Amino acid sequence: MLILESVSVFYDRIQAVKGISMEVREGEIVTLIGGNGAGKSTILNAITGIKKIQSGKISVGDMDITNADASRIVKMGITQSPEGRRVFPKMTVLENLEMGAYVSNDKGILAKNIERAYRYFPRLEERKNQFAGTLSGGEQQMLAIARALMASPKILLLDEPSLGLAPILVQEIFGIIKEINAEGVTVLLVEQNARMALKIADRGYVLETGNIALEGKSQELIHN
Ligand code: ATP
Repeated sequence: MLILESVSVFYDRIQAVKGISMEVREGEIVTLIGGNGAGKSTILNAITGIKKIQSGKISVGDMDITNADASRIVKMGITQSPEGRRVFPKMTVLENLEMGAYVSNDKGILAKNIERAYRYFPRLEERKNQFAGTLSGGEQQMLAIARALMASPKILLLDEPSLGLAPILVQEIFGIIKEINAEGVTVLLVEQNARMALKIADRGYVLETGNIALEGKSQELIHN
């Protein structure tokens, strides 16, 4: 479904991603794990068109999306919940959700997607008129994921959803990621928390300083 072939990304002369190839098949949860600075966020940003790649190819189905415009990639069904949550702090929860649906003008779909967001995250409905900047860390994370779902993605990219959260909340959020996947959304999950990520993923890639050091079924990687 989503295929990266020999993708290289540079920041000026520094190569952050060194010719990696990976694949996410329809219906899977795939995790990309690695330590600080391994290049995980850079890969997500390359997929979503935020960071241009210097060589290689990124495709969805038979569509080449290499260095395509970020808004075109959203329209093709790929959205990202960014690291550090990045909700709009001076907007309410509901306004943040509406922003996630900016590519569509269909009011019916908007209403359905808001209902879906509240079903996954009832706490967001309770706080729909609260400014996002005043939410707790965990609630902001929920909002970031919910907002990424507002564009009805086929593929959801999640950048470290467990970052800075208490273990109980991590469990809750990972449970919801599984539910989202069970309802038909393919997931690429970037994580430093390898153990947790491999628990819910079908397959994983281990990234080390811009190279894929290991890949395989989650069950196999857990033992490695
Ligand atoms: P973390 O888990 O710490 O977020 P990561 O695996 O997501 O790490 P990236 O953020 O992709 O790693 O960074 C990969 C490398 O690229 C790092 O060495 C980082 O310093 C570098 N890098 C990232 N963004 C920039 C930038 N805007 N300018 C220059 N170098 C950058």
